Amino acid sequence: MQTRRQFLRAAAVIAVAPHLLAEPEKEIWLNDVHSQLNRTRVRALLTPRTRDELVDAVRVGSRRNLPISIAGCRHSMGGQQFVSDGICIDIRGLARVLNFDRERGLIEAEAGIQWPELIRAYLEMQRDSIQQWGIAQKQTGADTFTLGGSLSSNVHGRGLTMKPLISNVEVFTLINAKGEAVRCSRTENEELFRLAIGGYGLFGLISSVTLRLAPRRKLRRVVALVEASNLAKRFEERIAQNFLYGDFQFSVDEKSPGFLQHGIFSCYQPIEDRGPAIAEKKLRDDDWLELLCLAYTDRAKAFKRYSDYYLSTNGQTYWSDTNQLSAYLPNYAQKLREQIGGEESSLIITEIYVPRVSLADFLKLAAELLRSNGTTVIYGTVRLIEKDDESFLAWAKESYACVIFNLLTAHTPAGIEASAHSFRGLIDLAITRRGNYYLTYHKFATAEQLTACYPQFKEFLELKKKFDPTERFQSDWYRYYRQVFAS
Ligand SMILES: Cc1cc2nc3c(=O)[nH]c(=O)nc-3n(C[C@H](O)[C@H](O)[C@H](O)COP(=O)(O)OP(=O)(O)OC[C@H]3O[C@@H](n4cnc5c(N)ncnc54)[C@H](O)[C@@H]3O)c2cc1C
Repeated sequence: MQTRRQFLRAAAVIAVAPHLLAEPEKEIWLNDVHSQLNRTRVRALLTPRTRDELVDAVRVGSRRNLPISIAGCRHSMGGQQFVSDGICIDIRGLARVLNFDRERGLIEAEAGIQWPELIRAYLEMQRDSIQQWGIAQKQTGADTFTLGGSLSSNVHGRGLTMKPLISNVEVFTLINAKGEAVRCSRTENEELFRLAIGGYGLFGLISSVTLRLAPRRKLRRVVALVEASNLAKRFEERIAQNFLYGDFQFSVDEKSPGFLQHGIFSCYQPIEDRGPAIAEKKLRDDDWLELLCLAYTDRAKAFKRYSDYYLSTNGQTYWSDTNQLSAYLPNYAQKLREQIGGEESSLIITEIYVPRVSLADFLKLAAELLRSNGTTVIYGTVRLIEKDDESFLAWAKESYACVIFNLLTAHTPAGIEASAHSFRGLIDLAITRRGNYYLTYHKFATAEQLTACYPQFKEFLELKKKFDPTERFQSDWYRYYRQVFAS
């Protein structure tokens, strides 16, 4: 273990690019936003603002033989964006739109751009058009995600018939460990294209991305209360009726028989594009905080209030892209503690995939498991995903139903282990149904679970070494799995 003095001396050594170094005179600790459970000390936090500075930042790491991690908005929860005692490159300073081909609906932007800025920029550029382009999908639940972080996790939204984000990526530029720019697409450096999307920053730094947009559509929201026992069928009906987006937000009241079984089914149907979209009823940040507060203290009431609100929005109209924007309170855990007290806690998410035929059965057993473990679920949804046949570490191995759980987690070893235990139980339920789980949220799965879900993981690590033999790009997440597979 280094003393503080040794650590600061080492940190000072890399002051070769002082304009890129943030506060080298102090220890630098970083953490993820949502769970706040990945506090990591780094030697330097570099915040490049141009492509040249980005290349410089990578070269700083090579010259000093220090590992580099890449961070976007820091929402991953398994240490994917930080490497202990290494350099962290924060990509958010590179956030310009570089090119917009309005004929073909292709937009190129720097990888540090976040969804709201991207949407704002293309809407501004299309003010004069009747037929507009918009993003096909983004994550739900928050907006502050970078394009680079989104590609590296190969994210998805709530499209009813969509594949993960890789399906919307045309080409991207990667800065490799030597500081060279490599263009990756389905026809150039195709192997890297498949590895870096969903590759958690281990193959180089994505500096810019060209996304394929979709025609921007006006949609009507159709809301109903539905039972999980016929949810798969209800999704099928909506798809047959050409609805484009949808999800099922389930009851989190573990004391009621409706726990995970009863929920709000909201789907979005394209309608005539002319005229403005009208969504008068909206939840403001204060409403969200109040709902979250209720979910901590009285989940029956929280679900009732939330479902009443949703039902009251039946028929409201939205645009297909801006409808995917969601409120998020980055300091929710602190605010809730101020309001309701209690020990330090936060939410950890997990996302489980099951074949759609097994959805009802999975939700039934998941409810039993979570009840018997005494686990508190604060929020959860079900969505759909189509099979990803492109990315190397594909999580959407089949066309699945995706089940998302936000678990309340006390910040004590016992509290964290209790959530981890429930996550492992849920993953087992998925595995016995030929399902899968998402790697972005935590690293609680056992080695056996990881291998069952991602049999290609060992090869993934070998390919990482092939493309990055000096292991310049690392993360604590990578180091953890490297060790798991070394033993
Ligand atoms: C509240 C919440 C809601 C969410 N909802 C969804 C959802 O609906 N659907 C979904 O799919 N996911 C969802 N996620 C997960 C989220 O999409 C991913 O964790 C995403 O990677 C976060 O983007 P970020 O900008 O915060 O990246 P970070 O967490 O900072 O980084 C993520 C990964 O990308 C790498 N990376 C970042 N930038 C670059 C770059 N330029 N080049 C190379 N590698 C890079 C990092 O090294 C890291 O491995 C959610 C997460 C939270 C906390």
